[in-house]
Amino acid sequence: MSTAAFDPWAALAEIRKQAKARADPKAPPDPAPAGRARLGRLDGLGGGHLAPAVSAPRADAWLADIALSIGRAVAAGAEREADAEGWLLLIRPEGDRLVVAPHIVAELDGAGLLPRLPAAVERSTYAARARPPEWWNRDDEPQAGDRCRCGGRSFWTERDRPGGWRCSTCHPPLHLGIDHVLVVTTERTEP
Ligand SMILES: [Zn+2]
Repeated sequence: MSTAAFDPWAALAEIRKQAKARADPKAPPDPAPAGRARLGRLDGLGGGHLAPAVSAPRADAWLADIALSIGRAVAAGAEREADAEGWLLLIRPEGDRLVVAPHIVAELDGAGLLPRLPAAVERSTYAARARPPEWWNRDDEPQAGDRCRCGGRSFWTERDRPGGWRCSTCHPPLHLGIDHVLVVTTERTEP
């Protein structure tokens, strides 16, 4: 899984910093590049989307921005992983994770901004099943549930020459006759 790199404590520190910034509407957004990079990973926690420091109620804009990110992830077909501590974990089909802290989830809910969420699953397979548009190990065959970053679920390889696999959408085998191509589709059969 790709969860190892996620540091909830760093995320929490950023959330506290955001909360502090919201408490003082005159405080300018933190321009620290490191902070921005981390926020970028946590799509929806405010990275790069801080409202301008005008008189507008920044807290509301900030919350609405997170609600929008959540709504987009759900619309894209994200799965929600169950979390005992109340973190909202959404995993997009391409494997990207959206993580929202429990108190922000509560705040969104209280403000009526929390989008309708899908039923939680124990462990999303999306990150594990995310594939690049091409890879070079022929023995690493596409498995049920695998999908390209484009959402494609069809991969092909050359029948006669040992080589890797490619996404049929990103890299269609236009230069090859159908007889020379072995296509594997990875639709999941279970509901
Ligand atoms: Zn693709």
